[in-house]
This record gives sequence, C-alpha cells and structure tokens, in this order.
Amino acid sequence: MTQVNGQLVREMVQSVLERVQTGWGGRVSPPPGGTAPRPVTAPGAAGVPAAGKFGQFTGVDEAVKAARTAQRALMRRSLAQRQIACDLIKQICITQADRLGQMEYEETRIGHPAHKPEKLVLVGNVALGVEFMRTECFSGDHGITLEEHAPWGVIGAITPVTHSLPTLANNAVNMIAAGNSLVCNPHPSGKRIAAHGARLFNQAIYEKLGIDNLVSVIAEPTIESAQELFVHPDVRLLSITGGPGVVAAAMRSGKRAICAGPGNPPVVVDDSADLANAARCIYEGAVYDNNLLCISEKEVYVVAAVWEPLLAAMEAAGAHRLTGQQMDQLARECIVSGQDGGHPYANRKYVGAEPQVFADLLGISIPPTCRMLFGQTTHEHPFVQAEQMMPVIPFIKCETFEQAVDLARDAEHGFGHTSIIHSRLVDHMTYMGKAMDTTIFVKNGPSVAGDGSGGEGYGSYSIACSTGEGICTPLTYTRLRRCVMVDNLRII
Ligand code: NAD
Repeated sequence: MTQVNGQLVREMVQSVLERVQTGWGGRVSPPPGGTAPRPVTAPGAAGVPAAGKFGQFTGVDEAVKAARTAQRALMRRSLAQRQIACDLIKQICITQADRLGQMEYEETRIGHPAHKPEKLVLVGNVALGVEFMRTECFSGDHGITLEEHAPWGVIGAITPVTHSLPTLANNAVNMIAAGNSLVCNPHPSGKRIAAHGARLFNQAIYEKLGIDNLVSVIAEPTIESAQELFVHPDVRLLSITGGPGVVAAAMRSGKRAICAGPGNPPVVVDDSADLANAARCIYEGAVYDNNLLCISEKEVYVVAAVWEPLLAAMEAAGAHRLTGQQMDQLARECIVSGQDGGHPYANRKYVGAEPQVFADLLGISIPPTCRMLFGQTTHEHPFVQAEQMMPVIPFIKCETFEQAVDLARDAEHGFGHTSIIHSRLVDHMTYMGKAMDTTIFVKNGPSVAGDGSGGEGYGSYSIACSTGEGICTPLTYTRLRRCVMVDNLRII
C-alpha cells in the first residue's frame, strides 16, 4: 500500500487547485453553459494558495503565491475573458457606488461624503481595459516583427488613504487588462474598504471565470508588509500611489517602480483671463472631495491688474474670503513645519476636512453652501509650500505674469505633476507650459479636466509623475516583447 504522507497530500491539493484555477481541468474556457467550480477552501496550515480566499490575506508571501496562481490562470484565458474581469470590477464600482462610497467615508473620515460614490462611478466609466492594449508591427524586406505588450506577472501595489478603493479598482482594471494580477498593501486607514472591494471583485470574477485572487490585499497592512512586498522575488513590478515617503522607499527597493507621487498644483491667472470662468473653475477643482485630489488647485498666483476683480469673482462663485491674519491662524493649526529643510506638510487631522471645520477654528460663520475658504498670503506661506489637501486656498499677488510663473514653478517643488493657467493668450500658455514642465497642464478649465473628467482623453487615479509614465493605462503595466519572422510572412 502506498504510504500517504503530509507532503504528498499538500502536493495533490496544490495540483487540484492549480487545475481548478487554470480553467476547468486545463481547458481554456468554461464548457458551454457550464458553471463555475465551487470555491475550495485553502488549507491554511500548508499555506497553499487557494480559491475561496477572494483576495483576503494576512501574509505577504501567501498573497503573492495566490496572485501568481491567479495570474497564470489569467494567461490561459482569452482576451475577451480578461475584459470580462475588467468589466465586472467596473460594474461593481458603478452599481454599488453609494454603499461603497459611504463605507469608504465611514472608515477614512476624510473628504466630502457626496463625492465618494462619484469617484467610484468615474472609475467604472473611464478606467481603461483590454481595448487599450495594442501591438506594434514592423513590416519590410526582412519580414515581419511584432512588438507585444506583455504582462509582468504579479504587481505589488500601494494605495493612498485619499482614494483607497478608487485607486485599487482603477489599478486592478488596468493591470488585469494587461494580463497581470496584483497584491495591494493599502493605507492602514483605508484597509477595510480596500479588502471589502477586493472581496467583491474576486467573488464576481470567480463566479464568472473561475479565477480567484486576481486582486489580493493584505488585510492588516503595515510599513513592514509594504517592505516585504517591495522585495518579494515573485513581485516583478511595483505600482506606488502616495506621498514622498513611500515613493522614496519604493525607489530604494531596487525593483522597477511606477510612482504616482505627490503634487502641489499651482494656478496662474493673467490679465487676459475670463475671470468669471477662472473663478468657477478654480472653485470646482479645489473643492472636489475637499481638495484631496493630487491634481487639485493648491495655490493661485494672480497678476496685480486683475487681483481685486478675481477675488470678487471667487466670492461670486461661492468661496469665502479670509484675511491674511486668518490664513496665518489656520496655518499655525493645520500645517506642520518641515524638518531638516523639508517642505512643511499637512496636519493629518485637517486633511480633507469640511470647510466648516476651518470656519469653526476661526470662530466665523459661513453659509452651508460654501465649500472653499481663500485668502491672500505670501509665496513663502505654509499654505503655499505644503501640499495641504484642504479646501483653504492661498492667493498670491504678483507684479507680472513672468513673476507669477516663476513663483508657481517654485511652489510645484519639481514634482512635475500638474499646473493650470487661466489666460486668453497663447503666448502665455506656451511660456508657462514650457516653464512648468508638469505631466498635466490645464488651460482655462478645472484641474480635474486634465484627468479625464470634463476634458478630452482618459483618466486614472494613478498619475505617475515621479517616474514619468504619466496618467497610467494598461500599457503602463506591461513589458515589451519582440517576435521576429525573418524574410517571410510579408504578403505585399
Ligand atoms: P501616504 O504617503 O501617507 O501613504 C500612501 C501609501 O504609502 C499608504 O498605503 C501608506 O501606508 C504607504 N506608505 C507610506 N510610507 C511608507 C513607507 N515608508 N514604506 C512603505 N509604505 C509606505 O499618502 P496618503 O496620505 O495616503 O495619500 C496622499 C498622498 O498621495 C499625497 O501626497 C498625494 O499627492 C499622493 N497621491 C498621488 C497620486 C498620483 O496619482 N500622483 C494619487 C493619489 C495620491
């Protein structure tokens, strides 16, 4: 009789699970009219990655192994099935936006509750899927060469607290479209909504395609688990969305990292601008989710000739004007001094807070419809130099347009993220565009128009300004592979 030992049992279980995950016993698609296999519970002691986990993991190694199995399974499926997985995630973002948005707000307690569902619906509407994939082709005397965008495998993703589920969902759609799976170490303050979203996504994909754990999350994320993910040998690419600390940490890992880092987007308003439109746009962009977006207007440079009319237009748009003293008072409470020559930074307690919170700090009353406070400051003011992420916007008066651009460039700190101009002069637009050198440059619109919301072009919740990939798409998460047929196959 064969001796059955623990190792043999583990190997048999692993083999069955791989067969289940890779598609109905090795077939590449479900049998016509066939149903998905029943979930198989992971034998925890053996640490075998298994279906039925729906992306919920405590250990990084276990999560990466499960994601690896899922990615191998995905590669055995058709592009049409990949698109089904992407569409399922997008549908959940749309159909469950209210509930998920509310859960995100209840957990993170930052931003504006009404905007949370909107952000998920946006992902559902604009996140790019398989349709964005492409192949480059060279055809000539020496035959035909194809350059294909191939997946990396398992991607290690870091997501911010400011948009925990929108970033995870957007990343997941793009990465799966490109043939990858992902393991996400979410921000600890947004970990429950990230895990819940991943569970929904995986359940839906599993029911339809029989693949589990394409979107895996670390349930109790820490800096240590992020580090473990950064150096795991089976994680071939990192996708980082967050502030300067995590971008620096990922770059030190030695792995290829796509880094969507911080911004501090300045606005310049010159004396040719349509001031009513400029004020409406600044208001619209700066108040969105209480200024949590990395692309949101964070400071406004105004040439002296239109200073008073623009400020009056801001009030007409619904913003409440503060005195310089009130701006100083808020800065003392809400902005923390930088250490070792670093920039000042936002006091977490006030990031994404409602305008009323700041009015209460000042002991003033504002109408309930008012979503933004603003006031004159110097260029050196903490509200200018910090990426404040609050609906409190500093305005700086400049003698000339050139001075405004100079100061705007300084305030952007070389992040290369986003800048905005309000002007009717093409010369000024060109001058500022060249001087700023930012990934996104918006003219005569709100910042969000630069990221697929009200302007042409696609959008993403990850804008890789730090490493230069720009607004992320499925192609961002691919590596190029070349396939060459020499002296043949060209039919013309
Ligand atoms: P954060 O930097 O505090 O955290 C981001 C993520 O990094 C979290 O998951 C956090 O747990 C992790 N993290 C932080 N330090 C780390 C370290 N040393 N090692 C490993 N992991 C670490 O940022 P946040 O408050 O969550 O998000 C706001 C920041 O993210 C802003 O700076 C904003 O501009 C930026 N952001 C950028 C984009 C973009 O597309 N460029 C999008 C959203 C947010």
